[in-house]
Amino acid sequence: MPVKKTTARPRTKKSDEIISYNPATLEEVGRVRVTPPSELDSIVQTASEAQRRWGQVPIRERAKLIQRVAAHVLDNHERFAEFITRENGKTLVESYLMEVLPVLDTFTYVAKHGPQILSRERIPTPQLIMKHKKHYFDYTPYGVIGIISPWNYPFSIPAGEVAIALVAGNSVILKPSPLTPLIGEKIKHAFDQAGLPEGVLTIVHGDAPIGSAMSAHEGIGTLFFTGSVETGRKVGEAAGRALKPTVLELGGKDAAIVCSDADLDRAVRGVMWGGCANSGQTCAGIERVYVSRSRYDEFVDRASELAERLKPGDPMEPETQVGPFTDTSQYEKVVRQVDEAIEHGAKRLTGGPADVGMAGKWYAPSIVTDVDHSMSLMRDETFGPIVPVMPFDDEQDAVKLANDSEFGLGASIWSKDTNRATKLASELESGSVWINDHMYSHGFAQLPWGGAKRSGVGVTHSKFGFYACVRPKLLSVDSGRMPVPFWHPYDERLRKSFDAVLNALYAPNAGEKLRTVLSRRSEFKGIIDRARNPNGPSV
Ligand code: NAD
Repeated sequence: MPVKKTTARPRTKKSDEIISYNPATLEEVGRVRVTPPSELDSIVQTASEAQRRWGQVPIRERAKLIQRVAAHVLDNHERFAEFITRENGKTLVESYLMEVLPVLDTFTYVAKHGPQILSRERIPTPQLIMKHKKHYFDYTPYGVIGIISPWNYPFSIPAGEVAIALVAGNSVILKPSPLTPLIGEKIKHAFDQAGLPEGVLTIVHGDAPIGSAMSAHEGIGTLFFTGSVETGRKVGEAAGRALKPTVLELGGKDAAIVCSDADLDRAVRGVMWGGCANSGQTCAGIERVYVSRSRYDEFVDRASELAERLKPGDPMEPETQVGPFTDTSQYEKVVRQVDEAIEHGAKRLTGGPADVGMAGKWYAPSIVTDVDHSMSLMRDETFGPIVPVMPFDDEQDAVKLANDSEFGLGASIWSKDTNRATKLASELESGSVWINDHMYSHGFAQLPWGGAKRSGVGVTHSKFGFYACVRPKLLSVDSGRMPVPFWHPYDERLRKSFDAVLNALYAPNAGEKLRTVLSRRSEFKGIIDRARNPNGPSV
């Protein structure tokens, strides 16, 4: 029995097919077969065999393949953007800006810098007893990497992670969200077109059953999960039992602090973009705004004016400012959160549920005032274009308010004084702090992405994102010509020699070292004797 996307969540348990619907028109976009968890063993085995060959391909060749995928995406960028809008519902401009462009930039970065980040790296070991040895980090692939993705950035999140995992020599099993399964298929198609060997990238479809099977599977070496805190916890628990590391990119409740000296034109436009882009369905979207009381009225007036101009509509029209909800369950949650806040004294100054003459669900951007931290709207994730605003009296209060959250994904500070803002940034408990901007940085893979507190564990992107795809294996090279004085047999003279050595090596200053060397000369001789006669006693 097929499933329909207009329900809160596709019922993949009893279904063998997911039908994907256009969130604007609710027309079918296509369908995919659900992968039964019983097939996972053989999928992992195939991926693992393919990885053994792929891992032998020189990293520069793997990087060239990523560059070819980038070329394919560039050649077909309009088709990619339109398809993303059709399946996910974000506006066409957002598909260009928040999906296709970041993928092109990430692929280009991965192809150019991946080989250097992951090439064998000498570890300096200048200690006397290791001076003659050479040590290296050998960045070895985990083998099979699992990637479990959400629907809100269905192209840019998984495609970037796939590219980094592959350049590092892993094979990948990618599970796209059941709300955007066909974009997952497009990612695979792009890699296939570039000549990725069979079995190196596999797409599986479904929801919790196949996702939890991936989390627990011992043949999957590590897992990148992006989604809600609730699911992330389950994934982390299952992976922990299988003794596998995970990177968990989870929810957010980002704050923006607008200081008294902010450039208000920029702050209003930036905060509204941070709150309403992707229809507010962004993990690092602005969901709480704290404005200096001296600028509060002005900010609210200007933000309301702008909100009125952000018209919801057909996401395929380049002039549309706000697309539909990808998932109607999010729409219902947003309506509930705002209505509850209003019942408790909040005021919605603009927007609300909107009818654009199409079948999907829209919410026009809403500025909400008179809010406080007892409201779900200020505590829980809100996946809609809602911008709740609160005044603050001094910046330390603003920092306290911003930190008063279980989440810690991102935060922004809007001020002309970047030095003062930088100081405030260090007090904010979040994975990223942007000064006079918000959230754009996921699009650029040299910058780290990860959350503090419940917003996540670990990092994607940047050199740390590459390192999350590899084991730092130690390679130690000794020419074998230097005798090793501390191997068996042990004896009292050897003990005394090492007593002298450690006192000399780790003495607190040069004078002390010299004194130890001079006063215990005879004891050092035990080591020299042992070096000359490795099998005999050191006496
Ligand atoms: P979700 O947790 O419902 O689902 C995420 C993925 O997990 C989907 O592919 C889903 O099929 C799969 N899944 C569901 N149950 C599972 C289980 N038991 N075991 C393993 N996998 C399972 O989240 P969502 O609704 O798809 O995405 C929205 C959430 O993702 C929001 O909370 C948002 O903030 C978060 N998010 C975070 C980031 C980030 O970078 N931190 C980015 C995007 C989205």
